[in-house]
Amino acid sequence: MNEPLVRIRDLVVTYKTRAGEVRAVDGVSLDIYPGEVLGLVGESGCGKSTLGTALLRLVRHPGRIVGGEIWFDGRNLLALSEEEMRRLRGAHISMIFQDPMTSLNPLQRISDHIVETIRTHKPEVSEEEARKQAAELIDRLGIMAERLDDYPHQLSGGMRQRVMIGLALALRADLIIADEPTTSLDVIVEAQFLDLLKELQEEFGLTILLITHNIGVVAQLADRVAVMYAAKLVELADVEPLFAEPLHPYTQALLASVPNIRLEGDTLKIMRGSPPDLIEPPPGCRFHPRCPHAFERCSQEEPPLKEIRPNRWVACWLYETERGVREA
Ligand code: SF4
Repeated sequence: MNEPLVRIRDLVVTYKTRAGEVRAVDGVSLDIYPGEVLGLVGESGCGKSTLGTALLRLVRHPGRIVGGEIWFDGRNLLALSEEEMRRLRGAHISMIFQDPMTSLNPLQRISDHIVETIRTHKPEVSEEEARKQAAELIDRLGIMAERLDDYPHQLSGGMRQRVMIGLALALRADLIIADEPTTSLDVIVEAQFLDLLKELQEEFGLTILLITHNIGVVAQLADRVAVMYAAKLVELADVEPLFAEPLHPYTQALLASVPNIRLEGDTLKIMRGSPPDLIEPPPGCRFHPRCPHAFERCSQEEPPLKEIRPNRWVACWLYETERGVREA
C-alpha cells in the first residue's frame, strides 16, 4: 500500500459534562490511504462523528482533543496554528454533513458558492471562467444548469448534497469527510446520490472518510471498513472479507441486525442491551455485557486491536491464545 494520507495515532477526545468526563474517542489509531473510501461505522454515540470533527480540529465545546496525534499529508495537525488549520480546511479537507443547509449560506446562490470556492482555490481564474466551470460542474452532478442561480432552499435535499460534493470537487479536496451524508434523503434519492458519489470517486480518485450508522451504505461504497464500539475501534478490514465473515462479535451482531430481503423468512436479530455509559465504561472489553461469547478474561482485561490476518484487525480475546494470535 502507498503511504497513508491520514495517520491517526492513539487519539483521545473528551467532553466535560456535569456528570463527569465522557471519553468519546478513546485511543483510536487509524490510517486513510489516498484514493480509498474508508467506511467508519457503529451505533449512534460510539464516537465516529467526533473522530470526523477531530480530523478537522472542529470538535465542539465542551469537547477537546486531549491525546494522540493526527497526521495529514505529513503534517501534524495538532501542532498547526488556528490560521494554518483554517487554510487547510479551506483547501485540502472538505466535510459533507448530514444536513447540507448547515454548510451552505442561505443568502448565497449556488453559483456564488461554487464560483467563490473556485476563485479562492485558483485566484487567477476570472469570474466569467469560474462561472462557466460552475455550470459544467453542476451539469456533471446531474443538476440542470438553469438551477445555478437558485438559493439553497430552492433545491431538494438530494440536490443540496450534490452541491456539497461539487464544492469538494471545485476545491480539489485531498480528503472528503462525509458524515451521515444520506440520512436526510429518501431511499431513491439516497441510491442516486450513492451512485453519483461512487462514479465521482472513481473518476477523480477521491479519498473519502464515510461516517455512517448505515451498514448498507458502507457495503455499496467503501473499500475498507472500520467498526467503532463505545469510543474504541474494534474491527478493521477490507469490505468484502468483513461482510463475508465478520470476526468481532459486535460486527457480527451489527450485520445480523440488518434486514436482508434475500433471506426470506429469516428473523431479524436484535442486539441485546445498549451501548455503555462512556463516563464509566465497563472494565475489560467494553462489549462484554452484551457479548454472547464473553468469558472471564473479557471483563478483566481490555483486548488490544491486533492484526490477526493480513489487513484484518480485531480487538477480541477470542482470537488470542497464551502463545499468540489464534487463527480466525
Ligand atoms: Fe466478546 Fe470477549 Fe471478544 Fe469482547 S473480548 S468481543 S466480550 S469475546
